[in-house]
Amino acid sequence: MINVSIVVPIFNEHESIPHLEKWIRAVMEKHKFRYEIIMVDDGSDDGSWKVIESLVELNPQVKGIKFRRNYGKSAALNTGFQEAKGEVVVTMDADLQDSPEEVPELYKMIMEEELDLVSGWKKERHDPLSKTIPSKFFNRITRWVSGIQLNDFNCGLKAYKNAVVKSIEVYGEMHRYVPVIAKWAGFKKIGEKVVQHQERKFGEGKFNGWYRGVKGLLDLASILFVGKFGKRPMHFFGPFGGLMFMLGFFSAGYIGISKLYRLSQGMQARLVVENPFFYIALTSMVIGTMLFLGGFLAELISRTSVDRNNYLIEKVIGNGDAIRKI
Ligand code: UDP
Ligand code: MG
Repeated sequence: MINVSIVVPIFNEHESIPHLEKWIRAVMEKHKFRYEIIMVDDGSDDGSWKVIESLVELNPQVKGIKFRRNYGKSAALNTGFQEAKGEVVVTMDADLQDSPEEVPELYKMIMEEELDLVSGWKKERHDPLSKTIPSKFFNRITRWVSGIQLNDFNCGLKAYKNAVVKSIEVYGEMHRYVPVIAKWAGFKKIGEKVVQHQERKFGEGKFNGWYRGVKGLLDLASILFVGKFGKRPMHFFGPFGGLMFMLGFFSAGYIGISKLYRLSQGMQARLVVENPFFYIALTSMVIGTMLFLGGFLAELISRTSVDRNNYLIEKVIGNGDAIRKI
């Protein structure tokens, strides 16, 4: 039985990874852990793979997985998660900013406090202001919409119970929101641990620029939407669509009837099309119908999706032979 799997996403970090392997090995041996290091090379072009090959030779605990091209940190983590065999799965950046010394304590928190996941908190952070300020903003938004009270969602150092990583899927820029995805999958016991953070010594940071942030926010919106309405999309589109349509319908009706009324009273009445509200009512009916149609289409799509009836089963007791998938 492997105690800890350490998953390391790697994109152009050839200088750092030998140090990282050595450091992890020292800590693991000191604490007598059975461990594996899963290095996922996310399409590096700086010779990182060569270094990983040499590390695999040096240390049988190291596994290497190489992507044909750069797919992003989330993809690398997801692949590592599928491979991980340890009771506890720890993710760690390759750039030596996260410290392997934290692993034993993280392991203990998962095993003894029975937490589903523990997220690192870089309380004292060694990054430029251009990173720390947007990061504060994102943490606040994510806390607010997800209801998870973590200080630092974006920390690369996190630990999970094995069942968690086998039950979730991370893609796009979603690596920041793994706790949110886990919570939606039903893993609610989420802890936080203050961790040490170092300055980057080698290579350069990959997540710069505001556009990344925009993508991140869109991913957050998708996670929330899929988590809440993925299996019943009409419950999202239906009320909005219905409301919009009704609003438009009754306003148009009111405009028409009030015109007829004025005419019948021999009053002057302007043309319906001269009334700006007429156009608002019309648009609202059109949007309402479209939302409704969107809902139906989404229902059709989710009906045909392969995992429409995939629920995460935690336990089966008694003669539950029919359900084998746990
Ligand atoms: N990374 C990756 N694929 C990418 C970008 C980054 O696997 O497309 C890895 C990178 O090698 C590092 C980790 O993700 O191990 C975090 O990257 P970085 O240190 O640039 O992020 P930051 O610490 O600035 O948030
Ligand atoms: Mg870093």
